[in-house]
Amino acid sequence: MKQLLILAFCPLLMGLAQTGDDELVNIKELIPDIVLDIKYNTEDNFVTVFSGSGQKLYTTDECLVAMSTAKRLIIIQDSLREMGLGLKMFDGYRPRAVQYLMWETLPPEYQSFVANPATGSRHNRGAAVDVTLVDLATREELDMGTPFDFFGPEAHIDYTGFPQNILDNRSLLRSMMEQVGGLEIYVVEWWHYEYPPARTYPLLDFQLK
Ligand SMILES: [Zn+2]
Repeated sequence: MKQLLILAFCPLLMGLAQTGDDELVNIKELIPDIVLDIKYNTEDNFVTVFSGSGQKLYTTDECLVAMSTAKRLIIIQDSLREMGLGLKMFDGYRPRAVQYLMWETLPPEYQSFVANPATGSRHNRGAAVDVTLVDLATREELDMGTPFDFFGPEAHIDYTGFPQNILDNRSLLRSMMEQVGGLEIYVVEWWHYEYPPARTYPLLDFQLK
């Protein structure tokens, strides 16, 4: 009974219980020690590279994800923390207008790396995340062999041409995301994981302020 009362008066848990699975939540509010590095809110991104001019696609460093996906990230971060590790997020919810811009900028030979905006990305539903692992104390990234948004065969999760420590880092991230969190990798991008049932979530198109 005492436990029930504590649960009932915990605002975070009350909020979690009341928020629908497809509603967007601010991940930093739910996981304060998650590291954010929102690349599309800088000019350091692939649209800048392919368009030849500095392109900042977002207007904020805040990161939203669907509640269903946030609940999984909470579990993953809890497990990682016990190892002195944590998640760093490069992207979560992405407005559909940005998806169109990416699609139009990307040369055709690279289009397996960006979802067609006509059908939409799981990012446009708040249910895909681009992540890596960091040492929680130093916030240093673990070596995954390529940077985020590296468009080449080395980004494929099955690429084996790296030293064992890099392959181990990729395996650790994958097992945490899939086996602990129940998310699913997009195999051509070691950093991209999504929540499969979210394919029915609405496509969203609002820019964060
Ligand atoms: Zn992604």
